[in-house]
This record gives sequence, C-alpha cells and structure tokens, in this order.
Amino acid sequence: MNKIATNIAQIHERIDMVCQKVGRNSSQVNLIAVSKVKPAKQIETAFHAGQKLFGESYVQEFRDKEPLVKAPVEWHFIGGLQSNKVKYLRGKVTMIHSVDRLSLAKEIDRQWEKIDGSVDILLQINVGDEASKSGCDPQDLESLVRSVAPLPHLRIKGLMCLPPHSDDPEQVRPFFKQLRELSEQIGRLQLPGVEMIELSMGMSGDFEVAVEEGATLVRVGTAIFGARVKKA
Ligand SMILES: *Cc1c(COP(=O)(O)O)cnc(C)c1O
Repeated sequence: MNKIATNIAQIHERIDMVCQKVGRNSSQVNLIAVSKVKPAKQIETAFHAGQKLFGESYVQEFRDKEPLVKAPVEWHFIGGLQSNKVKYLRGKVTMIHSVDRLSLAKEIDRQWEKIDGSVDILLQINVGDEASKSGCDPQDLESLVRSVAPLPHLRIKGLMCLPPHSDDPEQVRPFFKQLRELSEQIGRLQLPGVEMIELSMGMSGDFEVAVEEGATLVRVGTAIFGARVKKA
C-alpha cells in the first residue's frame, strides 16, 4: 500500500475505535480528505484507496485543480468564502461548510438557482469568539438560521466549527461540545427547511475527540497527505 492509502486506513481504524468506545456507529462518521495545496495526482491516489469525499479551502486553487482530477470524487468547500467567488463553486461542490452570513447564503441561493439546483450548506460558528476567525456568533445563530432557511436553492444540514488551535485536543473538547449543544438547540425549533444532522468538526490533531463529541464529518488533511507548505 502507498502512504496515502495506509494513512486513510489508519484514520478509519482510529474512528472505528472511538465509535466503539462511545457507542456510536462508525457509519455515522464521514471522513473528508482535505486536499488543499495538494496536487490532483494525490487526490486520485486517495480516491483509488477508497476515499470519495474531498474538502478544499481556496476557491482559486479549486478552480485550477478540479478539472485535473479525473476520478469521480465528491467535493465539499470548507474554507472562507467571498460572495463574488461563489459562482466558481456552482454545480461543482455538494456541500459548503462555511456559511456565516445572510449575504453569502443569498449569493449561494442565487448561483444554484441558475442551474435549477440546490446545495447543502452548514453554518459556521465562531465558537472560540476569536476576532480573527470567520463564523457566526453563537448568539446570532438562531436569527441567521431563520433568515437563511427560506432560501429555496440551499438546504441547511448542520453546523461547522474551526476552534482555536491547541496541541492538546482536550482543550478543544469544550468547543466541540458547544457546537453539538447549539445544534440540539436549533434542532428543537423544528424549523422548516432546517435539518441539524451534520456536525463538521475535528481535524488531524483532534478528530478523535470530535467524534467522541458527536462529529459526523471530520476534516482531515495532514494526517492523510502529510504536512503542507504553509499558504498565506
Ligand atoms: C486545512 C483545514 C483542515 C485540515 O487540517 P489538518 O490539520 O491538516 O487536518 C480542516 N478544516 C479546515 C476548514 C481547513 O482549512
């Protein structure tokens, strides 16, 4: 087996072990291979190792790379998104994880209307209350949900977070818990057009803790493809 295939197999084993420990079914946890900065070839290698779902964070890079990937992969967009770039994702991604404001949701709705389709979205929450991070403030979430839900060309499927970085996953656990609690609160409102079924949380350094706290989508880059040369 190549290194990428070995890494993917090991991550699945680790997810399975955590699921057993906390009594979850590992079929409820989907692995997203975060392929930003990595070439099309490595994406195809991962695909042939059984990985179907990939996450990209930079629109320009995705535009350039997506046509080069010949395997029928599924793409999620997970990075910060400016409204004027949504058009480059139209019809190409099945989920956008980073919706944190109504203006962006409206533009997504407008773009998917053009192809008579709809796209799944997650609302990104700034759980760490970090000035530098995107994401909706937890206090503003309910009002954001209520204004985004009626848009016909998108479907709210859950929440996403990118907590403050720590080398100790236990430091991050409270943020994962908070995301799950927010999701339960919104779920109880039973709003039409809103399903709180996905929790996108956990990366290479902390996905096991995220799975313990209920993650359904874990976004793992480095642990699959190796270290990235840092991009500005
Ligand atoms: C890069 C990135 C990841 C993956 O991070 P790793 O630590 O390499 O696993 C996950 N989520 C988002 C939003 C990212 O930008």
